[in-house]
Amino acid sequence: TRSADDDPEPGRVRVAVRLRPRNAEDLLSEADFADCVELQPELKRLKLKKNNWSSESFRFDEVFSESASQRRVYEAVAKPVVESVLTGYNGTVMAYGQTGTGKTYTLGRLGEDDASERGIMVRAMEDIIANTSQASDSVEISYLQLYLECIQDLLAPEKTNIPIVEEPKTGEVALPGAKVVKIRDLDHFLQLLQTGEENRHAANTKLNSESSRSHAILMVQVRRSVHEEEKDAPFQEKDSKKDLSNCHGIPIVRKSKLLIVDLAGSERLDKSGSEGRLAEEAKFINLSLTSLGKCINALAENSPHIPIRDSKLTRLLRDSFGGSARTSLIVTIGPSSRHHTETTSTIMFGQRAM
Ligand code: ADP
Ligand code: MG
Repeated sequence: TRSADDDPEPGRVRVAVRLRPRNAEDLLSEADFADCVELQPELKRLKLKKNNWSSESFRFDEVFSESASQRRVYEAVAKPVVESVLTGYNGTVMAYGQTGTGKTYTLGRLGEDDASERGIMVRAMEDIIANTSQASDSVEISYLQLYLECIQDLLAPEKTNIPIVEEPKTGEVALPGAKVVKIRDLDHFLQLLQTGEENRHAANTKLNSESSRSHAILMVQVRRSVHEEEKDAPFQEKDSKKDLSNCHGIPIVRKSKLLIVDLAGSERLDKSGSEGRLAEEAKFINLSLTSLGKCINALAENSPHIPIRDSKLTRLLRDSFGGSARTSLIVTIGPSSRHHTETTSTIMFGQRAM
């Protein structure tokens, strides 16, 4: 198995692009038949049309066409992060893109009727559950929504303003008061995710907002006994009891965290005529995504200063992003040339992370 130890560039963000299949809306007008992108998955390359005569070519770590399966996307993008989490490192998988391009499909799809449709959250949990079978192992989740710089608990919707606390010495991020549920099995997780989705919908209806305006964050805390040969992973406090028993050859327990983040839609909000909360919304969503972009760029440039404190989203990511943590970013796009501007901006966001 791969571990962050074998990774020549452990802190680098891996960036994949995924193209959503054409849908009915894309076919409404004749002009939309002209795709604004052309993919070369084998070359991990994407061509973005500038006009009828020229295009610009971009390389990514992975390029997924509209026919790429959920399984392939999981294996190439998220599985290495999950494996690294299982050896004791923190990790993050994020999806960025315009509303309607497949972020939630890629990450949050439950696949109740067809397991092949399952998204990254479910597949990651499946792998994590399969690898935490010892009595001392545990998997716990929290599921949150970040909206207007305010963290709401999707598993306990009455909690609407969860604080972020950073352990000053280790930089470890905690969310005191957020509901934490110990997962028994995959069905249990599927139920929770479903409940979380319903709560998200209800909360946003009440706020007269749309899910596309908020970030959804699944936080998975893993405690796992690791084998002798794995135990020199740098991160992590050791469980003190287990540490004592280690002198009798019993494996030590490591704690690590996986974040899966379904980001708010990256489209520019039409600010004309928007007042009050809508304008606030535009400003804050912009703040979180802009600040995430700045952190990702700083990481890509090996900058000593990562402006992590600028927004709640980046504060939340602090211990699971860069450094020894493994991070994958999936940028999602649609084919239609009608959205050329948004698609270009999504591709540039992904490029700057590399
Ligand atoms: P987003 O979360 O980015 O707003 P969604 O994930 O809700 O977008 O996707 C919008 C629509 O497109 C949904 O109906 C979804 O099922 C469909 N869709 C997105 N990506 C794919 C894909 N790769 N294959 C099939 N359908 C997809
Ligand atoms: Mg969505």
